[in-house]
Amino acid sequence: MKKYVAEPFKIKMVETIKMTTREEREELLKKANYNVFALNSGDVYIDMLTDSGTGAMSDKQWAGMMTGDEAYAGARGFFELEDAVHEIFDYKFVQPVHQGRGAEKVLFPLIVKKGHYVISNMFFDTTRAHVELAGGKAMDLVCPEALDTKTYADFKGNMDLEKMKEFIEEVGKENIDAVVMTLTNNSAGGQPVSVANVKAASEIAKANGLKVIIDAARYAENSYFVKQREKGYENKSISEIVKETFSYADAFTMSAKKDAIVNMGGAIGVKDDEELFKAVKGMTIPYEGFVTYGGLAGRDLSALAIGLKEGINEDYLYYRIGQIEYLGDKLKEAGIPFQYPVGGHAVFLDAKALLPHIPYYEFPGQALACEMYLEAGVRCCDIGSYLLGVDPETGEQLESKMEFTRLAVPRRVYTQAHFDVIVEALKEIKKRASEMKGYRITWEPKVLRHFTAKLEPLK
Ligand SMILES: *Cc1c(COP(=O)(O)O)cnc(C)c1O
Repeated sequence: MKKYVAEPFKIKMVETIKMTTREEREELLKKANYNVFALNSGDVYIDMLTDSGTGAMSDKQWAGMMTGDEAYAGARGFFELEDAVHEIFDYKFVQPVHQGRGAEKVLFPLIVKKGHYVISNMFFDTTRAHVELAGGKAMDLVCPEALDTKTYADFKGNMDLEKMKEFIEEVGKENIDAVVMTLTNNSAGGQPVSVANVKAASEIAKANGLKVIIDAARYAENSYFVKQREKGYENKSISEIVKETFSYADAFTMSAKKDAIVNMGGAIGVKDDEELFKAVKGMTIPYEGFVTYGGLAGRDLSALAIGLKEGINEDYLYYRIGQIEYLGDKLKEAGIPFQYPVGGHAVFLDAKALLPHIPYYEFPGQALACEMYLEAGVRCCDIGSYLLGVDPETGEQLESKMEFTRLAVPRRVYTQAHFDVIVEALKEIKKRASEMKGYRITWEPKVLRHFTAKLEPLK
């Protein structure tokens, strides 16, 4: 049983959160049409909706905010960011952007040609969208271990290298433009990717003339897992592991709202390809803003440069991953099913296993998310058939391979007692799981329905 890792920081500023009663929450959830995205955050006790942009910045980052240089061009924050990227990733060029999808919007049209494929261990949804908006086709080739939620594997986020070779053979390298390695593999549950896998995928890509891009949102958490689990890396520093991993790629896109612990920000890194970087700068100006700010305030650039370094601090990562492992071990002890082992940023509860009597078209992942709010004021969300939506041609509900309810953990925000509240809530829910009912959608928009759809509980 994992012991809780005490916070490697102390608290200087607090934010009050509201306590509500079950009766109040029943009323609030009904008013939100049983869609947790429609809840006011002020009515949420513990918010595990996402780990994106929800972290707590450090005193040093806040100091950076205060001293940020707001010049339009050549602001100091840009050079701080450049220094951090040289130091951490050993990349020559960096372009700040407003968030991860801004990086994708700028970079992918420069790399993807109409009708060509881009291969990934698994695309995050905005990354997939930007490959498709650039006219390309996105192909996921994650290893089969990712789909088995009950069996332990060290690196469930890996690319299936055999499938990758077969796929290149099948469609022809001339019809493929790039390989995107998502670290950690968010869509597979925040599961890590080994350095060996990045290296091998890169070798296959290079042999076929394909560019390698890292989707780098969780560069630090991935490197921590490598240090824990991959042979030969146990005595390397996180910094060395990050450098080696990124040495196998040509460029990265990054959402800095994750491991760089800022509330807004992103970046594109280019290792040494000066022509590509020139093109990146050319695209940035019309889309994101002048090249030394890229859609960010000067103060945001300073906070980002500091956050990039704090994100790879080993004491911090030991605590960060330890916190999530603590939650996982408590759930395991209580017999609550989840994607095992836990990922770097979240626990994915296996709603299909907990609520086997609720069929996919009655949304078990969504039912569990609603129940978590009613039980304890905890907000989490469905990653299953409710999120997946309907077949655009037939209008029929699609069946997701997995029905998850995701508890995504904000960085440096919640403490052990909050995690215990979550575990206790799930124990209560498990006791009456067989009585729980599914949901029906009463209204939905055409795309990305989960954000705004309206639902009602089935009788
Ligand atoms: C969050 C995320 C993105 C998109 O970044 P935003 O900052 O939300 O635009 C891309 N890839 C991965 C893996 C992510 O987790």
